Amino acid sequence: MAGTTTKGICYFCGKSITKSTAKKHLATHEYAEADKQECMLLKIEAPYEKDYWLYADISMTSTLKTLDTFLRDIWLECCGHMSAFYWSNYEEMSFSTKISSIPVGKALSYEYDFGSSTDLKITFMGTYYRKKQRTAVQLLARNDAPEYKCVSCGKPAQQICIDCMWNEEYGFYCNECIDAHQEESAHECILPVVNSPRMGVCGYEGDNGKFDFKAKRIIY
Ligand SMILES: [Zn+2]
Ligand SMILES: [Zn+2]
Ligand SMILES: [Zn+2]
Ligand SMILES: [Zn+2]
Repeated sequence: MAGTTTKGICYFCGKSITKSTAKKHLATHEYAEADKQECMLLKIEAPYEKDYWLYADISMTSTLKTLDTFLRDIWLECCGHMSAFYWSNYEEMSFSTKISSIPVGKALSYEYDFGSSTDLKITFMGTYYRKKQRTAVQLLARNDAPEYKCVSCGKPAQQICIDCMWNEEYGFYCNECIDAHQEESAHECILPVVNSPRMGVCGYEGDNGKFDFKAKRIIY
């Protein structure tokens, strides 16, 4: 499923950035001096679905369990599957592992759902101080949603026919054309187009807009 963009948005200022310029750009934002809290900058990528990436920071005192919850909330959760972090190929880590115990430069592998799995790579980019906040994880930047065209009319697609995908056919349809397609093909399994590497997998339906960029978040 090749998308159309690797661009994304900075959640501090709303500027358009790319995965490769994100770290440099994020560093231009001033972090709080007073009332500060040490945190780790994370780059989160889907190694097989390159359009999808995130930058986030997490407090040093948090654990992998907290990071797991964030990943589920923004990208993954469909029906409560198991997940795991890996230090190296098959060396699974404890969910109680503290962020502070993982060295800068380390890249962990992560797997959600051991059946129809979604694999992620999480790189520990560096530490800095941010303003104290109640939530452990702060979303800093996110890829723009790749756009897919409806196979019938060419307009932006909102639905995926999973039966078509299983048949290795391009299964993207807009809201207007999906009903006709289902009627003529007797295809039943439909999932929404969402901004996640888990799009179209199992019953994944997206984050309900919980992590959409809102201009008011500029006041950080
Ligand atoms: Zn910015
Ligand atoms: Zn599921
Ligand atoms: Zn259409
Ligand atoms: Zn179909």
